[in-house]
Amino acid sequence: MTLDFLGSLQRTGMCGELRADDAGRNVVLMGWVNRRRDHGGLIFLDLRDRTGIAQVVVDEKVGAAHDKADTARPEYVVAVKGHVRRRGAGLENPNMPTGEIEVVADELLLLNEAKTPPFSPAEDAIGNEEVRLKYRYLDLRRVEMQHNFALRSRVAMAIRNYLVAEGFLEIETPFMTRSTPEGARDYLVPSRVHPGHFYALPQSPQIFKQILMISGFDRYFQIARCFRDEDLRADRQPEFTQIDLEISFPTQEIVFAVVEGFLTAAFTAAGIALKPPFVRMTYDEAIKNYGIDKPDMRLPAMVTLTDVLTPELRTALKIEQALPVLGFVIPDAGEISSTARKSLLSEIRGSFGDCGLDILDVQRLKTNEAFAPLASRIDDLLSEELRRFSGDTEAVDTGHLIIVVTPKLGTPASWNYDPQWIWKRVGALRLELAKKFADKHKLFEQTGTERDYKFAWVTDFPMYEWNEETRTWDAAHHPFTSPHEDDIKAGRLTSDKGAVRALAYDIVLNGTELGSGSIRIHRQDVQAEIFRSLGMSDSEARERFGFFLEALEYGTPPHGGIALGLDRIVMILAGATSLREVIAFPKTAKAIDLMVDAPTPPTEQQLRELHLRVTAKS
Ligand code: ASP
Repeated sequence: MTLDFLGSLQRTGMCGELRADDAGRNVVLMGWVNRRRDHGGLIFLDLRDRTGIAQVVVDEKVGAAHDKADTARPEYVVAVKGHVRRRGAGLENPNMPTGEIEVVADELLLLNEAKTPPFSPAEDAIGNEEVRLKYRYLDLRRVEMQHNFALRSRVAMAIRNYLVAEGFLEIETPFMTRSTPEGARDYLVPSRVHPGHFYALPQSPQIFKQILMISGFDRYFQIARCFRDEDLRADRQPEFTQIDLEISFPTQEIVFAVVEGFLTAAFTAAGIALKPPFVRMTYDEAIKNYGIDKPDMRLPAMVTLTDVLTPELRTALKIEQALPVLGFVIPDAGEISSTARKSLLSEIRGSFGDCGLDILDVQRLKTNEAFAPLASRIDDLLSEELRRFSGDTEAVDTGHLIIVVTPKLGTPASWNYDPQWIWKRVGALRLELAKKFADKHKLFEQTGTERDYKFAWVTDFPMYEWNEETRTWDAAHHPFTSPHEDDIKAGRLTSDKGAVRALAYDIVLNGTELGSGSIRIHRQDVQAEIFRSLGMSDSEARERFGFFLEALEYGTPPHGGIALGLDRIVMILAGATSLREVIAFPKTAKAIDLMVDAPTPPTEQQLRELHLRVTAKS
């Protein structure tokens, strides 16, 4: 086949932008053949570019163009010269933005041919993700992917514009650096000029952004790539992008207002109007009401029924004294038969195993005179929460699923040193059941409005987490997070680590953590003390963070910041279910790039130059 040259031909516009009032215009369009339909005398080519699809008609009367259209196949790259005309009555396609018009071709240029692709970019859903990733360039041609990346670009730009207007400077920090403690493994880069030495790729720009505050930049941000070598889950990628920022002389409220501002700008770019300020709650409140530090507020909260179960009732019902009793409602779970209810309850009992928790069958209590008042008190309290949640006057009725969890006699107050384990277990059950009945209550369904997005700030996280494996206290956030001043003053850093609260906060959306941050330690003595309290000797701290401890001694302003996952925000706005839908060239769950085929073994020469020897080969 002879291909045509582009020469000096220029486009007059984009395929997806043509409308009825363009009728009569002469146009030059360029793009890919999305579909080709041969009706004998007429050949229809659906021409696709980034903006959408336009139907091109090639009549056999324009002989040369028709001959070329005859050879064109899907994914050929073509240029069309012609004019726009309205489609005949009844031939409009209301499902296409350009469905009222078509382009009548005078001339067709075949700019490039294409092999038959392994899947058609014209299709909506392609089942095999591995094939999509291997032929990512074809996958990215799909309308949905083009939409996702246009959205991503708009969202990032809206965030940049907002932050710049708020006085933030965008400053880049290095990729080749040393370890930054964010709790994952580092990716290492061997140095050729320093045999046996390695750079680490940053898990975050944390230390650099703090140093930028020491340097007087006042407000920094960066849409920054971070690298973390950890076991991948569906919603993780080894390299990902954070909206990273740091502020000098901040209060938590200043950080919250900046984040609420840029999220509002980002959501506006996606056509959704948010109404900040977002809900704020402490970590303890989140655990008490939702049993988790990332509360999903699209559902009613848990209700504490502890005081309703008096000592006498507990004795009669064989419930452990003094431990919490928690209930919750899954609204509109639908009428369930009594057999189905019993089997659900026994399934839940089974899932509790031998941890000591049990289900109180409130329906059954109602049939027993001695316990009927208890059952109605429970109904009242759960109805109250349901009304708060839904904002109407509804009471708990049979359409709602009521779950009450009680501790059996002998249930331990703490599990794995965790005195909040009961709240957390019930919180997990609340989410499991909400998922199970999602088709019924429909609370997770997207309506395309602000209602779909329940944001919350969770504050006052614990400073330390007990690590049972190493039997040490680890930093729950990272070791640069400031403890509450009161806890420092009260000496709890040494006397009662489990009770120390951090000036750390998370921003949560619909039960997912979007980002976390903290007010930092700005005093060298406090930073050294925190390293010590994490079991790091002074010499180890100097070895790893000496440069930073030293920097802290040269006039460090109080500062604080946060980082939010950009990929996740775009994923949510795109209504996608995986980060891979919004990262152009993502890795698989096994951290492989299927398109370029990475990682790969280095050549012998590279190894020699890097002074490396590979001992294990897979
Ligand atoms: N560097 C932290 C992180 O990546 C965020 C922060 O504290 O600003 O989670």
